[in-house]
Amino acid sequence: SGYHKVLEENRNIRVYCRVRPFLGGQPNLPSTVRNMEEGNITIMTPSKYGKDGSKIFNFNKVFGPSATQAEVFSDTQPLIRSVLDGYNVCIFAYGQTGSGKTFTMTGPDDLNEETIGVNYRALRDLFQIAEQRKDTIAYEISVQMLEIYNEQVRDLLATDVTLEIRNNTHNGINVPDATLVPVSCPSDVLNLMNIGHKNRAVGATAMNDRSSRSHSCLTVHVQGRNLTAGSTIRACMHLVDLAGSERADKTEATGDRLKEAQHINKSLSALGDVISSLSQKNAHVPYRNSKLTQLLQDALGGQAKTLMFVHMSPEPDALGETLSTLKFAERVS
Ligand code: ADP
Ligand code: MG
Repeated sequence: SGYHKVLEENRNIRVYCRVRPFLGGQPNLPSTVRNMEEGNITIMTPSKYGKDGSKIFNFNKVFGPSATQAEVFSDTQPLIRSVLDGYNVCIFAYGQTGSGKTFTMTGPDDLNEETIGVNYRALRDLFQIAEQRKDTIAYEISVQMLEIYNEQVRDLLATDVTLEIRNNTHNGINVPDATLVPVSCPSDVLNLMNIGHKNRAVGATAMNDRSSRSHSCLTVHVQGRNLTAGSTIRACMHLVDLAGSERADKTEATGDRLKEAQHINKSLSALGDVISSLSQKNAHVPYRNSKLTQLLQDALGGQAKTLMFVHMSPEPDALGETLSTLKFAERVS
């Protein structure tokens, strides 16, 4: 089978693959995923790709259909400590609509202790570690929720507000008019997340009538004052539920839907360009090509740490999108 080297060990950029289970009520179809191991996955492919009809892709980690939310988060946990140590962090959920991005980041509709996703678990850990360190470092934590829809940045914690991204030498990248809410416990964050999700733009497509056509970004700002040294560290963590990566033709898009799809394509390929030029250590990183990469500029590259969850649907009719998702994963690894 064609062996694709997706990964070289790269300390600051990691790519995890998650394959969701078949959903309830679906017929018992053959999965497009032939085999799953710790770090690689074998995909059945159209005959033009490989002689035996399969191809192996490598990742830093692969989570199969039975992986729990807690298991998925446990490999993310070290990044939370990094934020409190002063490193900027980006965690992305990438994949076609219906592949499980929101499930990973937020959880399903019926949220409980077991089903809750990465966002809430990350914040809960953040508070816990901050508490453990309180005798030496005084942390202040605040949260912002933005959405990028049709290349416009909107505030998810306010209604009908379009925002400008600024880049100044003193503060770096910031969104001065975004609502920034100080938080002191996990339930504060849960309340804000509920408000944000209600404000998030959703549109109907042929594939999923509640599909999200925008990128949503929960940003946690952390400031820590060392009580003995008097020094201050600042860092942020962006938790990004990306818009669906499916190509426009699949969703029978016309008019507004087509425009949305074109904006999404543009920003996802800009994100791919930025991450791949970072992993190739290119001198020029093209941050300016989309609002998404402008917004995240300070948290992509340099000392910052990036984790990309690449999501896949197991159904045979998703194979085309699954292969284009894997192509994206190859570029950013
Ligand atoms: P996306 O955000 O990529 O459009 P969703 O997260 O909304 O996809 O997932 C689509 C459907 O599949 C939802 O009903 C969700 O609850 C379910 N789902 C996704 N991932 C899993 C999983 N790992 N285990 C169980 N159900 C899942
Ligand atoms: Mg979603």
